[in-house]
Amino acid sequence: MMDLHFNQRLAAGYHSGSQISRVLTEDWMERNMFCPVCGAPVLGHYEANKPVADFFCEDCKSDFELKSKESKTSTVGKKIADGAYGTMIERITSFNNPHLFVMTYANWSVNNLLVIPKFFFVPDIIEKRKPLADTARRAGWIGCNIDIGSIPESGKIFIIRNSKQEDKLKVVEQYHHILSLQKTDIEGRGWLLDVLKCVERIPKNDFTTQEMYAFVDELQQKHPDNNHVQDKIRQQLQFLRDKGFVKFTSRGHYKKMI
Ligand SMILES: [Zn+2]
Repeated sequence: MMDLHFNQRLAAGYHSGSQISRVLTEDWMERNMFCPVCGAPVLGHYEANKPVADFFCEDCKSDFELKSKESKTSTVGKKIADGAYGTMIERITSFNNPHLFVMTYANWSVNNLLVIPKFFFVPDIIEKRKPLADTARRAGWIGCNIDIGSIPESGKIFIIRNSKQEDKLKVVEQYHHILSLQKTDIEGRGWLLDVLKCVERIPKNDFTTQEMYAFVDELQQKHPDNNHVQDKIRQQLQFLRDKGFVKFTSRGHYKKMI
């Protein structure tokens, strides 16, 4: 079992809260975290200030970024601050973003830790923050928030949930299960994740095409250039069926397999 406590002794000598948080969370990851992609027992730590990622797996060459925040509540929350807006959008659209670890902690102990695979990122989930004021050291700089709440639940793989550790094998299995949803064009990925999110919002396991059509207006607003939203919905449902995430039970009727 993982020890969920940080090594607070490492905080000695640091004064800024964000530095202390970074040192303690990264040290914890180095000591405890395995690779959720291939199951390798440890992750390597990139030198400080490497802009692309924080951790890597020596075995499968996956890169990971860690975002953490202190939180008194037991849930993960909806948003997490990340770096420069422009860099983030560029990374997502060129497909070289790392997988994202999100950690929440309280009293120097991990509450939640999840990994969101890179293929669940679309520009939609990146929110632009207000440019920094003229008086700031980096005046005009534009940061971003990742809207975790808008990512389908299937794309969030928990390693620790509410201070309870999930089985390692289950974590790696879940990664490989959703890996089949990977799409290499950003437009196609957007449609898939939008439709998946709608499926998840229907509060029961069995649902119909008609119930999915209730989301047409909403999806039309997100994709104003597409005039065939109903066709798109059916096409994505078919894709989800082929990958085993939904099942056709009879004409126009589906069952969630997630
Ligand atoms: Zn690996």
